[in-house]
Amino acid sequence: MTGYISALVVRNPAGRPAVAEVRLPEVGPGQVRVRIRAAGVCHSDLAMVNGTLSPPHPLVLGHEAAGEVLEVGAGVTRAAVGTHVALNWAPPCRGCWHCTHSEPWLCSTANVAALENGMTLDGAPVFVTLGLGAFAQQVVVPENAVIAVPGELAWESAALLGCAVLTGTGAVRNTARVRSGDAVLVIGLGGVGLSVVGAARAAGASQVIAVDVAEAKKALAEAAGATDFLVSSDTLSKDVRSRTGGRGADHAFECVGRAATIRAAWRATRRGGQVTVVGMGRADDMVQLSAFDIFSSARTLRASVYGSSDPDAEIPALAQDVLSGALRLDHLITDRIRLADVPAAFDRMNRGEGARSIVLF
Ligand SMILES: [Zn+2]
Ligand SMILES: [Zn+2]
Repeated sequence: MTGYISALVVRNPAGRPAVAEVRLPEVGPGQVRVRIRAAGVCHSDLAMVNGTLSPPHPLVLGHEAAGEVLEVGAGVTRAAVGTHVALNWAPPCRGCWHCTHSEPWLCSTANVAALENGMTLDGAPVFVTLGLGAFAQQVVVPENAVIAVPGELAWESAALLGCAVLTGTGAVRNTARVRSGDAVLVIGLGGVGLSVVGAARAAGASQVIAVDVAEAKKALAEAAGATDFLVSSDTLSKDVRSRTGGRGADHAFECVGRAATIRAAWRATRRGGQVTVVGMGRADDMVQLSAFDIFSSARTLRASVYGSSDPDAEIPALAQDVLSGALRLDHLITDRIRLADVPAAFDRMNRGEGARSIVLF
Protein backbone atom coordinates (compact mmCIF):
# COMPACT_ATOMS: atom_id res chain seq x y z
CA MET A 1 0.00 0.00 0.00
CA THR A 2 1.47 3.32 -1.02
CA GLY A 3 0.58 6.66 0.43
CA TYR A 4 1.50 10.29 0.58
CA ILE A 5 5.08 11.54 0.52
CA SER A 6 6.80 14.94 0.41
CA ALA A 7 8.22 16.07 -2.92
CA LEU A 8 9.55 19.28 -4.46
CA VAL A 9 6.87 20.45 -6.89
CA VAL A 10 6.64 23.30 -9.40
CA ARG A 11 2.92 23.98 -9.88
CA ASN A 12 3.03 26.22 -12.97
CA PRO A 13 5.56 27.78 -15.38
CA ALA A 14 6.01 30.89 -13.22
CA GLY A 15 5.95 29.02 -9.92
CA ARG A 16 8.79 28.67 -7.44
CA PRO A 17 9.47 25.07 -6.40
CA ALA A 18 7.95 24.18 -3.03
CA VAL A 19 7.56 21.07 -0.92
CA ALA A 20 4.11 19.49 -1.31
CA GLU A 21 2.39 16.25 -0.35
CA VAL A 22 1.90 13.99 -3.38
CA ARG A 23 0.36 10.55 -3.64
CA LEU A 24 2.52 7.76 -5.04
CA PRO A 25 1.05 5.33 -7.59
CA GLU A 26 0.77 1.64 -6.72
CA VAL A 27 3.81 -0.39 -7.79
CA GLY A 28 2.89 -2.10 -11.06
CA PRO A 29 4.50 -5.06 -12.84
CA GLY A 30 8.12 -4.36 -13.73
CA GLN A 31 8.27 -1.35 -11.36
CA VAL A 32 10.06 -0.70 -8.09
CA ARG A 33 9.46 1.73 -5.21
CA VAL A 34 12.61 3.40 -3.93
CA ARG A 35 13.16 5.37 -0.73
CA ILE A 36 15.41 8.26 -1.82
CA ARG A 37 18.35 8.82 0.54
CA ALA A 38 20.35 11.45 -1.40
CA ALA A 39 19.62 13.61 -4.46
CA GLY A 40 21.91 16.12 -6.18
CA VAL A 41 20.81 19.50 -7.54
CA CYS A 42 21.81 19.50 -11.23
CA HIS A 43 21.73 22.27 -13.85
CA SER A 44 19.13 20.23 -15.73
CA ASP A 45 16.76 20.74 -12.76
CA LEU A 46 17.42 24.48 -12.96
CA ALA A 47 16.71 24.25 -16.71
CA MET A 48 13.21 23.01 -15.83
CA VAL A 49 12.42 26.20 -13.91
CA ASN A 50 14.40 29.00 -15.60
CA GLY A 51 12.86 28.84 -19.08
CA THR A 52 15.62 26.80 -20.79
CA LEU A 53 13.08 23.96 -21.14
CA SER A 54 9.27 24.18 -21.16
CA PRO A 55 8.11 21.11 -19.21
CA PRO A 56 4.46 20.36 -18.36
CA HIS A 57 3.14 21.09 -14.85
CA PRO A 58 2.70 20.32 -12.03
CA LEU A 59 6.23 18.87 -12.08
CA VAL A 60 8.34 17.05 -9.49
CA LEU A 61 12.00 18.04 -9.96
CA GLY A 62 15.11 15.88 -9.41
CA HIS A 63 16.90 13.15 -11.40
CA GLU A 64 20.34 12.55 -9.77
CA ALA A 65 19.63 10.27 -6.85
CA ALA A 66 20.20 7.09 -4.90
CA GLY A 67 18.21 5.14 -2.38
CA GLU A 68 17.04 1.73 -1.25
CA VAL A 69 14.37 -0.46 -2.80
CA LEU A 70 11.26 -0.71 -0.58
CA GLU A 71 8.95 -2.72 -2.83
CA VAL A 72 9.20 -4.61 -6.14
CA GLY A 73 6.39 -5.30 -8.61
CA ALA A 74 5.61 -8.57 -10.35
CA GLY A 75 8.37 -9.90 -12.59
CA VAL A 76 11.13 -7.61 -11.31
CA THR A 77 14.57 -9.26 -11.54
CA ARG A 78 17.04 -6.36 -11.27
CA ALA A 79 16.61 -5.54 -7.61
CA ALA A 80 15.18 -6.96 -4.41
CA VAL A 81 13.77 -5.20 -1.35
CA GLY A 82 16.72 -3.61 0.45
CA THR A 83 19.00 -3.28 -2.61
CA HIS A 84 20.90 0.02 -2.72
CA VAL A 85 20.46 1.65 -6.12
CA ALA A 86 21.49 4.66 -8.16
CA LEU A 87 18.82 6.04 -10.50
CA ASN A 88 19.29 6.17 -14.29
CA TRP A 89 17.39 9.05 -15.94
CA ALA A 90 17.70 7.59 -19.45
CA PRO A 91 17.09 3.85 -19.03
CA PRO A 92 17.72 2.16 -22.39
CA CYS A 93 15.00 -0.11 -23.84
CA ARG A 94 17.63 -2.47 -25.39
CA GLY A 95 15.38 -2.93 -28.43
CA CYS A 96 15.39 0.28 -30.52
CA TRP A 97 17.80 1.11 -33.36
CA HIS A 98 20.22 3.07 -31.11
CA CYS A 99 20.18 0.46 -28.34
CA THR A 100 20.95 -2.31 -30.84
CA HIS A 101 23.73 -0.22 -32.43
CA SER A 102 25.80 0.38 -29.27
CA GLU A 103 24.32 3.83 -28.53
CA PRO A 104 22.07 3.14 -25.50
CA TRP A 105 22.44 6.77 -24.32
CA LEU A 106 20.46 7.82 -27.41
CA CYS A 107 17.66 5.29 -26.79
CA SER A 108 14.56 6.49 -28.62
CA THR A 109 12.39 5.80 -25.55
CA ALA A 110 14.56 7.80 -23.14
CA ASN A 111 15.37 11.47 -22.54
CA VAL A 112 11.77 12.66 -22.29
CA ALA A 113 11.94 15.79 -20.13
CA ALA A 114 8.87 14.97 -18.04
CA LEU A 115 6.50 12.02 -17.84
CA GLU A 116 3.27 11.17 -16.03
CA ASN A 117 3.71 8.13 -13.83
CA GLY A 118 0.45 7.94 -11.91
CA MET A 119 1.55 10.28 -9.11
CA THR A 120 -1.10 12.81 -8.07
CA LEU A 121 -1.28 16.18 -6.30
CA ASP A 122 -4.70 17.07 -4.85
CA GLY A 123 -6.11 14.33 -7.10
CA ALA A 124 -4.61 15.72 -10.33
CA PRO A 125 -1.86 13.99 -12.35
CA VAL A 126 1.73 15.08 -11.73
CA PHE A 127 4.69 14.96 -14.13
CA VAL A 128 8.10 13.72 -13.00
CA THR A 129 11.44 15.03 -14.30
CA LEU A 130 13.16 12.60 -16.70
CA GLY A 131 10.81 9.83 -15.59
CA LEU A 132 12.16 10.02 -12.02
CA GLY A 133 11.11 13.11 -10.02
CA ALA A 134 13.76 12.28 -7.45
CA PHE A 135 13.36 15.32 -5.16
CA ALA A 136 10.90 13.18 -3.24
CA GLN A 137 10.97 10.91 -0.20
CA GLN A 138 10.05 7.99 -2.47
CA VAL A 139 9.68 7.29 -6.20
CA VAL A 140 8.02 4.57 -8.26
CA VAL A 141 10.08 3.86 -11.39
CA PRO A 142 10.53 1.14 -14.03
CA GLU A 143 13.07 -1.48 -12.92
CA ASN A 144 15.49 -0.55 -15.73
CA ALA A 145 15.83 2.90 -14.09
CA VAL A 146 17.58 1.40 -11.04
CA ILE A 147 21.18 0.20 -10.97
CA ALA A 148 22.39 -1.77 -7.96
CA VAL A 149 25.41 -0.30 -6.14
CA PRO A 150 27.44 -1.75 -3.26
CA GLY A 151 25.88 -1.27 0.16
CA GLU A 152 29.06 0.32 1.53
CA LEU A 153 28.98 3.17 -1.03
CA ALA A 154 27.86 6.46 0.58
CA TRP A 155 24.38 7.58 -0.53
CA GLU A 156 25.66 10.96 -1.71
CA SER A 157 28.37 9.31 -3.84
CA ALA A 158 25.85 6.90 -5.37
CA ALA A 159 23.58 9.84 -6.23
CA LEU A 160 26.37 11.77 -7.98
CA LEU A 161 27.27 8.73 -10.09
CA GLY A 162 23.77 8.86 -11.62
CA CYS A 163 24.28 12.18 -13.41
CA ALA A 164 27.23 14.53 -12.82
CA VAL A 165 29.99 11.93 -12.53
CA LEU A 166 28.77 9.60 -15.28
CA THR A 167 28.22 12.58 -17.59
CA GLY A 168 31.61 14.14 -16.86
CA THR A 169 33.76 11.01 -16.91
CA GLY A 170 31.88 9.63 -19.91
CA ALA A 171 32.43 12.85 -21.90
CA VAL A 172 36.19 12.46 -21.36
CA ARG A 173 36.54 8.69 -21.78
CA ASN A 174 33.77 7.74 -24.21
CA THR A 175 32.92 10.82 -26.27
CA ALA A 176 36.21 12.73 -26.60
CA ARG A 177 38.61 9.87 -25.74
CA VAL A 178 41.19 12.16 -24.18
CA ARG A 179 44.69 10.67 -24.43
CA SER A 180 47.79 10.92 -22.33
CA GLY A 181 49.61 14.21 -22.93
CA ASP A 182 46.58 16.10 -24.28
CA ALA A 183 45.97 19.72 -23.31
CA VAL A 184 42.36 20.01 -22.13
CA LEU A 185 40.18 23.08 -21.62
CA VAL A 186 37.07 22.87 -19.41
CA ILE A 187 34.58 25.76 -19.39
CA GLY A 188 32.00 25.81 -16.57
CA LEU A 189 32.89 24.31 -13.20
CA GLY A 190 29.70 22.90 -11.71
CA GLY A 191 29.36 19.25 -10.72
CA VAL A 192 29.74 18.07 -14.33
CA GLY A 193 32.62 20.40 -15.24
CA LEU A 194 34.60 19.43 -12.14
CA SER A 195 34.01 15.75 -13.00
CA VAL A 196 35.40 16.46 -16.48
CA VAL A 197 38.47 18.08 -14.89
CA GLY A 198 39.11 15.04 -12.70
CA ALA A 199 38.53 12.52 -15.49
CA ALA A 200 40.82 14.43 -17.86
CA ARG A 201 43.63 14.36 -15.32
CA ALA A 202 43.00 10.66 -14.68
CA ALA A 203 43.21 10.06 -18.46
CA GLY A 204 46.73 11.51 -18.43
CA ALA A 205 46.08 15.02 -19.74
CA SER A 206 49.28 17.02 -19.30
CA GLN A 207 47.30 20.22 -18.84
CA VAL A 208 43.76 20.81 -17.65
CA ILE A 209 42.85 24.47 -17.96
CA ALA A 210 39.69 25.12 -15.95
CA VAL A 211 37.58 28.21 -16.66
CA ASP A 212 34.67 29.77 -14.82
CA VAL A 213 33.13 33.21 -14.38
CA ALA A 214 33.85 33.13 -10.64
CA GLU A 215 37.36 33.45 -9.18
CA ALA A 216 35.96 31.58 -6.16
CA LYS A 217 35.95 28.36 -8.25
CA LYS A 218 39.76 28.30 -8.35
CA ALA A 219 40.15 26.20 -5.19
CA LEU A 220 37.48 23.74 -6.37
CA ALA A 221 39.20 23.46 -9.76
CA GLU A 222 42.55 22.73 -8.16
CA ALA A 223 41.01 20.18 -5.80
CA ALA A 224 39.54 18.43 -8.85
CA GLY A 225 42.95 18.29 -10.55
CA ALA A 226 43.15 21.41 -12.74
CA THR A 227 46.69 22.52 -13.63
CA ASP A 228 45.58 26.03 -14.61
CA PHE A 229 42.62 28.24 -13.71
CA LEU A 230 41.33 31.21 -15.69
CA VAL A 231 38.44 33.56 -15.09
CA SER A 232 36.37 33.70 -18.27
CA SER A 233 37.08 36.82 -20.36
CA ASP A 234 37.18 38.13 -23.92
CA THR A 235 40.84 37.13 -24.12
CA LEU A 236 40.23 33.46 -23.26
CA SER A 237 41.36 32.09 -26.63
CA LYS A 238 44.61 34.12 -26.46
CA ASP A 239 45.19 33.10 -22.83
CA VAL A 240 44.70 29.40 -23.63
CA ARG A 241 46.96 29.64 -26.68
CA SER A 242 49.72 31.28 -24.62
CA ARG A 243 49.60 28.29 -22.24
CA THR A 244 49.56 25.64 -25.00
CA GLY A 245 52.61 26.48 -27.13
CA GLY A 246 50.57 28.91 -29.24
CA ARG A 247 48.38 26.09 -30.64
CA GLY A 248 45.26 26.02 -28.45
CA ALA A 249 43.78 23.08 -26.54
CA ASP A 250 43.59 19.59 -28.04
CA HIS A 251 40.18 19.16 -26.40
CA ALA A 252 37.68 21.67 -25.09
CA PHE A 253 34.66 20.70 -22.97
CA GLU A 254 31.80 23.17 -22.80
CA CYS A 255 29.87 22.46 -19.59
CA VAL A 256 27.60 25.51 -19.59
CA GLY A 257 25.20 25.14 -22.53
CA ARG A 258 25.42 28.60 -24.11
CA ALA A 259 26.27 29.72 -27.62
CA ALA A 260 28.83 32.21 -26.30
CA THR A 261 30.78 29.57 -24.37
CA ILE A 262 30.54 27.04 -27.21
CA ARG A 263 32.13 29.67 -29.46
CA ALA A 264 34.76 30.43 -26.82
CA ALA A 265 35.58 26.71 -26.59
CA TRP A 266 35.77 26.48 -30.38
CA ARG A 267 38.14 29.44 -30.66
CA ALA A 268 40.44 28.22 -27.88
CA THR A 269 40.88 24.79 -29.50
CA ARG A 270 43.81 24.02 -31.80
CA ARG A 271 43.53 23.32 -35.51
CA GLY A 272 42.18 19.77 -35.82
CA GLY A 273 41.10 19.77 -32.16
CA GLN A 274 37.81 18.63 -30.67
CA VAL A 275 35.08 20.57 -28.92
CA THR A 276 32.68 18.49 -26.83
CA VAL A 277 29.45 20.18 -25.73
CA VAL A 278 28.29 18.72 -22.41
CA GLY A 279 26.01 21.55 -21.25
CA MET A 280 22.36 21.63 -22.34
CA GLY A 281 21.30 24.97 -23.77
CA ARG A 282 18.21 26.70 -25.13
CA ALA A 283 16.56 25.78 -28.44
CA ASP A 284 16.81 29.41 -29.65
CA ASP A 285 20.44 30.12 -28.66
CA MET A 286 22.18 30.01 -32.05
CA VAL A 287 25.91 29.23 -32.41
CA GLN A 288 27.44 31.13 -35.31
CA LEU A 289 30.53 29.73 -37.03
CA SER A 290 31.74 30.75 -40.48
CA ALA A 291 31.79 28.19 -43.28
CA PHE A 292 35.44 29.05 -43.93
CA ASP A 293 36.35 28.64 -40.23
CA ILE A 294 34.67 25.21 -40.05
CA PHE A 295 36.72 24.06 -43.05
CA SER A 296 40.07 25.67 -42.34
CA SER A 297 40.16 25.00 -38.60
CA ALA A 298 39.43 21.29 -39.24
CA ARG A 299 37.96 21.11 -35.74
CA THR A 300 35.29 18.65 -34.62
CA LEU A 301 32.23 19.91 -32.73
CA ARG A 302 30.19 17.22 -31.03
CA ALA A 303 27.85 16.71 -28.10
CA SER A 304 28.06 14.25 -25.24
CA VAL A 305 24.66 13.06 -23.98
CA TYR A 306 24.82 11.25 -20.60
CA GLY A 307 28.55 10.72 -21.19
CA SER A 308 27.92 8.53 -24.27
CA SER A 309 27.72 5.81 -21.66
CA ASP A 310 25.92 2.60 -20.85
CA PRO A 311 24.97 3.33 -17.23
CA ASP A 312 24.25 -0.35 -16.47
CA ALA A 313 27.93 -1.13 -17.04
CA GLU A 314 29.61 2.13 -16.09
CA ILE A 315 27.84 3.10 -12.85
CA PRO A 316 28.88 -0.15 -11.09
CA ALA A 317 32.44 0.32 -12.40
CA LEU A 318 32.55 3.92 -11.15
CA ALA A 319 31.18 2.75 -7.78
CA GLN A 320 34.13 0.35 -7.48
CA ASP A 321 36.51 3.19 -8.35
CA VAL A 322 35.03 5.29 -5.52
CA LEU A 323 35.35 2.42 -3.03
CA SER A 324 38.96 1.70 -4.06
CA GLY A 325 39.88 5.38 -3.72
CA ALA A 326 40.72 5.72 -7.43
CA LEU A 327 37.83 8.19 -7.90
CA ARG A 328 37.34 10.96 -5.31
CA LEU A 329 33.99 12.74 -5.12
CA ASP A 330 34.14 14.61 -1.79
CA HIS A 331 35.27 17.87 -3.39
CA LEU A 332 32.23 17.90 -5.70
CA ILE A 333 29.80 18.37 -2.80
CA THR A 334 29.84 21.88 -1.38
CA ASP A 335 26.42 21.98 0.31
CA ARG A 336 24.38 19.30 2.11
CA ILE A 337 20.79 20.50 2.33
CA ARG A 338 17.14 19.61 3.01
CA LEU A 339 14.44 19.26 0.35
CA ALA A 340 12.99 22.71 1.14
CA ASP A 341 16.44 24.29 0.53
CA VAL A 342 16.61 23.35 -3.18
CA PRO A 343 15.33 26.77 -4.39
CA ALA A 344 18.19 28.41 -2.45
CA ALA A 345 20.57 25.95 -4.15
CA PHE A 346 19.23 27.14 -7.53
CA ASP A 347 20.00 30.71 -6.43
CA ARG A 348 23.60 29.68 -5.62
CA MET A 349 23.85 28.04 -9.05
CA ASN A 350 22.62 31.22 -10.73
CA ARG A 351 25.28 33.20 -8.85
CA GLY A 352 27.96 30.69 -9.90
CA GLU A 353 28.67 29.63 -6.31
CA GLY A 354 29.76 26.19 -5.11
CA ALA A 355 29.70 22.86 -6.96
CA ARG A 356 27.03 20.26 -6.09
CA SER A 357 24.34 20.84 -3.48
CA ILE A 358 22.98 17.51 -2.33
CA VAL A 359 19.69 16.83 -0.57
CA LEU A 360 20.02 14.30 2.23
CA PHE A 361 16.77 12.66 3.34
ZN1 LIG B 1 21.69 16.03 -14.20
ZN1 LIG C 1 16.33 1.91 -26.91
